Amino acid sequence: MSNCGSGDDCLEACKRLFGYLDGELTAEQAAEFEAHLARCGRCADAHAAERKLLAAIKSSEAGSTDLDLRRRILAALRATPPRSE
Ligand SMILES: [Zn+2]
Repeated sequence: MSNCGSGDDCLEACKRLFGYLDGELTAEQAAEFEAHLARCGRCADAHAAERKLLAAIKSSEAGSTDLDLRRRILAALRATPPRSE
């Protein structure tokens, strides 16, 4: 699933992607992540795609209390390992 680039910076950014989207990063980590997106088109694309997906999940759960489903979807997404050779 990952479209992240293969540099060390990209792997770090990849690992932080979900934390960033969930607001779980420290301000410093979030700033580093944003700085990486600003200079790395591949990670910026991956971030945009994930954000869109999360937005779709969130909007699909509007009016629903099925948080368990959302958690399972997110868990499945997170289980996809970053690409690393
Ligand atoms: Zn990158």
